[in-house]
Amino acid sequence: MRSIVTALAVVAALAIVAPAVPVAVSAARPVVIVQAGHLSPGEPGYLAQTGASGNPFGAESEFNRRVRNAMIRRLRAAGVDARPVPALVSPLGIAGATFVSIHHDSRGGAAMVGHAIRGGNENYYHGQGTGTGSPTPYRDSAPHRTPATTVSRGVERTSATTARRLAIALKSIFTRANGAQGRFRGVIPPNSNRRMNHFYGFYRTTAGSRVIVEVGAAPEDNRFLRKTALISRALSTAIIGDLRARRLLSRAP
Ligand SMILES: [Zn+2]
Repeated sequence: MRSIVTALAVVAALAIVAPAVPVAVSAARPVVIVQAGHLSPGEPGYLAQTGASGNPFGAESEFNRRVRNAMIRRLRAAGVDARPVPALVSPLGIAGATFVSIHHDSRGGAAMVGHAIRGGNENYYHGQGTGTGSPTPYRDSAPHRTPATTVSRGVERTSATTARRLAIALKSIFTRANGAQGRFRGVIPPNSNRRMNHFYGFYRTTAGSRVIVEVGAAPEDNRFLRKTALISRALSTAIIGDLRARRLLSRAP
């Protein structure tokens, strides 16, 4: 009791001498890069990867664009320096706290989250992005932009944590009641899906965390995919929580 009284007295004394203007936490706003997967302009080497189709808005890129733009608004409102990018990651090697790429899967696919993993390379394909992803170029692979960035052990660890937070948020809304009919896989194990774990976007940024989200699959999850406000809110809230846990964003904007 005595210590509480003392503490209150100290608080009161501080309040008297406190400046009229509240002292703001002067941390730089964290940069979050949100990519609308497959949205034009495209990334050299992957121009043939135009994405899935059959969602309520048509092309996958249009669904991705809507979710991305809503996320950008929500992140900015929370004090984040949110940067929208299309398939072409620009500027090359962009720095930030988090890079998140938004997608939906095709028929028979799943809602899932992938993250950057250490070792290996970005995927190379035939021509501008067809065939099976390979860590080394095929003879007919179109040139990629260079220099690619690398994924360190620390980036892998941070990315895995961000991916878990996003998967928890996505799982909480990926329900029958919200129109989801397909599978939910959560965070995919490293090396289970080269296409996701070695997504080129992870090698075009130096962000401390790098993740990719398949929000669901079209057409089976179409009633869910239509709910872009719900989806963008859940994903943005998870990103904000992740930034706060990493002490990159203060609680009050
Ligand atoms: Zn996609």
